Amino acid sequence: MLSTMQDVPLLISRILTHGSTIHGKSQVTTWTGEAEPQRRSFAEIGARAAQLAHALRELGVEDGQAAGTLMWNNAEHVEAYLAIPSMGAVLHTLNLRLPAEQLIWIVNHAADRVVIVNGSLLPLLAPLLPHLPTLEHLVVSGPGDRSVLDDIDGAGPQVHEYEELLAGRPTAYDWPQLDERQAAAMCYTSGTTGDPKGVVYSHRSIYLHSMQVNMAESMGLTDQDTTLVVVPQFHVNAWGLPHATFMAGVSMLMPDRFLQPAPLADMIEREKPTHAAAVPTIWQGLLAEVTARPRDLTSMRRVTIGGAACPPSLMEAYDKLGVRLCHAWGMTETSPLGTMSNPPAGLSAEEEWPYRITQGRFPAGVEARLAGPGGAFLPWDGESAGELEVRGPWIAGAYFGGAGGDDFRPADKFSPDGWLRTGDVGVISPDGYLTLTDRAKDVIKSGGEWISSQELENALMAHPEVVEAAVVAVPDDKWGERPLATVVLKPGATADYAALKSFLAEKIAKWQLPERWALIESVPKTSVGKFDKKVIRRQYADGELEVTELR
Ligand code: ADP
Repeated sequence: MLSTMQDVPLLISRILTHGSTIHGKSQVTTWTGEAEPQRRSFAEIGARAAQLAHALRELGVEDGQAAGTLMWNNAEHVEAYLAIPSMGAVLHTLNLRLPAEQLIWIVNHAADRVVIVNGSLLPLLAPLLPHLPTLEHLVVSGPGDRSVLDDIDGAGPQVHEYEELLAGRPTAYDWPQLDERQAAAMCYTSGTTGDPKGVVYSHRSIYLHSMQVNMAESMGLTDQDTTLVVVPQFHVNAWGLPHATFMAGVSMLMPDRFLQPAPLADMIEREKPTHAAAVPTIWQGLLAEVTARPRDLTSMRRVTIGGAACPPSLMEAYDKLGVRLCHAWGMTETSPLGTMSNPPAGLSAEEEWPYRITQGRFPAGVEARLAGPGGAFLPWDGESAGELEVRGPWIAGAYFGGAGGDDFRPADKFSPDGWLRTGDVGVISPDGYLTLTDRAKDVIKSGGEWISSQELENALMAHPEVVEAAVVAVPDDKWGERPLATVVLKPGATADYAALKSFLAEKIAKWQLPERWALIESVPKTSVGKFDKKVIRRQYADGELEVTELR
């Protein structure tokens, strides 16, 4: 028997219409570096999204076609986020920190017809244009020197000014009734091994994910909140915030290109957001900034931190500043919200602590299981470690095959019964809290036992003189692999590896302690600000690190 309920599709256009009417007064504030930021209401964004959709339609963007954005976090990017999927096209966010050849590969693979680009990013895009044959239109938005486009020849894309393109167009659009399973947006994983892989989100997956983001057990945002969206809009849809905020009327504070610690601290002090989201590297940088020049961060009642493991010492440091960091785990393939660490009710601060430092609990929309080495599934006993596999309505079931290609499901990424193999290793407690010990590819396999690089890093970063630490596996004649600890020290501190090793020995089993140590200036980072351990492994292999051995 089927239900008697209406079968209304879950569409981004509904989120847009809802946000721009019911929550029309909520705002997107974009930092400009000038005395006053740019402020735009959700009602204005809704009207401008309609104008953008009319313009893109006139440029020939059709249903199912990809339209790219190479943009910072700002109001115009939000307009593109809402307009492109609502009209039936596919928003393709381009990661502005990718190397040129990967950007070229991605634009061509998705066959982007149009790219909306911030003027400040033109120097990055202009040299790539001769390699982008599918690109017919370039729409330039915001400040930045346009003269870098002077050399485009007749074969290149037509160039338009964003504001001129919108001006005078109707401020309403008759959004089409799409199939909710239709592609709405796409994001490529950063492709640390092999070509980048495209994940294509549907209207339905984004709609359901947005609802989850707003649930109290996740970020719990309402129209009383303003969220500082530091996580880039090209990094897994800014963790779903531009959609979730429109659904719940949450105002957004957008840093545009001002992502350095000093302007971020100023933004928080002046605009008083109640929530923020970013990877640990950003919070490390901000901590150093406010330690040197104090600012009031206490407007933020909670902060979502994820994308990489949050060192417990960082959480403690922010607790002292009156800001609560809430740990979340996710991936491009999981939209990204997979878990969020809210402790159970009724606990003292001390009792909450062991829960807060886990990656968090799974919501109803994410089913999880742990695959053991032999393929058997492991119990949720808080001790049995295996590879995390997940499934759910906002979890990818395949990668995008490109124009004319078939979607594909590599066996190392998808189980035969369709679950996503995350590549993350960890344990799950009986009440569903996930603790990741490592990425499968970062685990150190020493004499048949596994050493968690993450545990060593967290322990090292708790040392008062250590700013950052990254631990990688290096080949070892006797044990197969052993840990190499690379550390960044506070200015003025001297490297006393024996003291660091004794510090570790207080928390870590002796056989897991690193023998090899190296001082580095900073930990290399990926395009989304995570530790890039493959660079350290290569530096070690090429003899570029000055390694001290302590046996
Ligand atoms: P990339 O693989 O390029 O880093 P993603 O942003 O999709 O792109 O990264 C997802 C991965 O980031 C996860 O599989 C996991 O290894 C790591 N990650 C994300 N959040 C956390 C977290 N809270 N703790 C530990 N690792 C995390």
